[in-house]
Amino acid sequence: MALVIDRLTAGGLTLEAARLGGGPGPRIAVLGGVHGDELEGVLAAQRLIGALGTRTLHGTVTVLPLANPPALTAGTRAGADDENLARVFPGVADGTLSARIAHAISAGLIADCDLLIDLHSAGRRYRMPPLCGLPAKGTVGGRPLLDVARTTAFPFLWAHGSVAPGRSVSHAEALGKPWVYFECGGGGALREHDIDRYVTSVLRLLAEVGVLDAEPAPAPAAPQVVVRDGDGNTDDGIVLGASGLFVTRCAAGDAVTGGQILGTVHGPDGAVLETVRAAAGGYVMMLRHDFEVAAGDVAAIVAGTGGGAGTGGDGAA
Ligand SMILES: [Zn+2]
Repeated sequence: MALVIDRLTAGGLTLEAARLGGGPGPRIAVLGGVHGDELEGVLAAQRLIGALGTRTLHGTVTVLPLANPPALTAGTRAGADDENLARVFPGVADGTLSARIAHAISAGLIADCDLLIDLHSAGRRYRMPPLCGLPAKGTVGGRPLLDVARTTAFPFLWAHGSVAPGRSVSHAEALGKPWVYFECGGGGALREHDIDRYVTSVLRLLAEVGVLDAEPAPAPAAPQVVVRDGDGNTDDGIVLGASGLFVTRCAAGDAVTGGQILGTVHGPDGAVLETVRAAAGGYVMMLRHDFEVAAGDVAAIVAGTGGGAGTGGDGAA
């Protein structure tokens, strides 16, 4: 299978995307490394290029494993301009470096794609259960995106009624294009099982949209839970009012009830300064991992299955 390297320029940087296939069929864009401390997506995207190189593709798959070189070099969520790349899409050609990177990705990959797959993870400071996020009413190839996502290896599917602006997926949404994003892991660790799940699930999606002829179904993730509250913004969850040491009482992916204690914040003398509770029942979709917390940090996001108000806003990425 022919592989072409597309070079996108952004403010003096060159982003190298591997373009595979090229015949008739859907055009799929895959992003890894939008955040510099989320290496699962980078490794999965790199592995995907190798996996697709030996297969027949009906359509085009363009994979950008290193979407945010300044942040990836620093190993931090954002690069030197301290701007969250996932808040500045679609970007501008003459703005900050992050805005230029967003613009290059928007123009070079998202504008022409029929499906955007953005590979994130929980990074150093958080933990998240393995999940595939998607627009609740999205369709791809005339099928509900949720049905397509059910074929992936994710135990959680997060169907969002809306997404906050600035993310790659919100730009795709604004262009009327279907999108999914993946999350997993966190705590600064990399787990083979998570990376393998990403690769397997992208291959599954490619088979479902007809780019690949067939792809073995992954081991079923049972039970597969569909959560619906919130729109997937890590900045918007249960926000802490106190600074101190965060002691968790739950794990990412746990089912919790309304009022359940998720964790406590302790002062220098050990006293409890704040008790963090779930406002309503649901699943812990994101949990603070790093014990050192400051007022204003997000402690957790709990999302329910009903499509109601939920307990913590926005969700992922
Ligand atoms: Zn991310």
